[in-house]
Amino acid sequence: MRKPKVAFYWNASCGGCEEAVVDLGLDILKVVEAVDIVLWPVALDFKYKHIETMKDGEIAVSFINGAIRTQEQENITKLLRRKSKLVVAFGSCAHLGGIPGLANFWDAEQIFNTVYKSLPSVQNPEGVIPKTNVNVDGYELTLPEFYDTVKTLDQVVDVDYYLPGCAPPPDLIMGALTSILENKLPEKCSVFAPDKSLCDTCPRGENKPQKLSIKKFQRIHMVQPDPRKCFLEQGIFCLGPATRSGCGERCINANMPCRGCFGPIKGTVDQGDKILSAIASLAEARTEQEEKTLFDSLEDVAGQSYMYSLPSSLLHRKRKEV
Ligand code: SF4
Ligand code: SF4
Ligand code: SF4
Repeated sequence: MRKPKVAFYWNASCGGCEEAVVDLGLDILKVVEAVDIVLWPVALDFKYKHIETMKDGEIAVSFINGAIRTQEQENITKLLRRKSKLVVAFGSCAHLGGIPGLANFWDAEQIFNTVYKSLPSVQNPEGVIPKTNVNVDGYELTLPEFYDTVKTLDQVVDVDYYLPGCAPPPDLIMGALTSILENKLPEKCSVFAPDKSLCDTCPRGENKPQKLSIKKFQRIHMVQPDPRKCFLEQGIFCLGPATRSGCGERCINANMPCRGCFGPIKGTVDQGDKILSAIASLAEARTEQEEKTLFDSLEDVAGQSYMYSLPSSLLHRKRKEV
């Protein structure tokens, strides 16, 4: 019997989502037995031309991690979309833009100027920056275009399902693989994780007072948080109210607040906006001065609220100066 063909691909990614596949441990043997892997750049030496020669829809499912930052990533993603019956956005970067998406607070020129010219460790007196075409000794060398704006996978191609998390936990990956292989698929565009907020499943929720109020925020590295109390109750920014459950409360159990990597809960369009309105409703400030003190203590509010979701938000990116 022919096995279903499966592709794994990475775009703008840290490699952690590839690790997550390896973290399946012995279960990876079940995957390898059940499917025929046709592309997996981190582990196997297939070439793009192998994919180009396939029939459209020949790959059963492509798991694509990472955000879209370059022309090459966009091209390969579109190729995989054409050749695949299903495309799954694997991990926060593909789902929401993720950590690479924080670059949308700047543009390509600002990033190149910082990385190639102004960083203290850089020696670049001629101010050379990467170009898409350069001629060296009569040979034309090319690099993919580096876009101004980081995009989510579904801003470039049609996506069938989403596996959330930075990186997705092994139980959710196996659950998604099993649903696909057994053809027990949820509604198109579903997220393979529960439709609940993290606060609904967080063990600290039980001890949370009926009415929370925040007078001042504290950064996590400046305090020793009480491991039983809700982070918000302690004035520590936690994205639990605006974040989907399903990670096993990984950060909370390590006494760290949630940063939102599972993305918004169903029905929420903008995760950052959701947490900001939740925080605003908990803020306790009777005067303008108290209000200023409270919000001044909330450092890097945009970065914290949109840590994983800026490209997928209503804003997409910081507005460019004109
Ligand atoms: S989702 Fe997290 S682990 Fe996966 S590529 Fe992005 S940053 Fe890395
Ligand atoms: S805000 Fe954070 S710590 Fe508090 S209940 Fe929600 S997830 Fe748990
Ligand atoms: S607690 Fe939040 S940031 Fe941590 S893994 Fe879970 S969803 Fe992601």
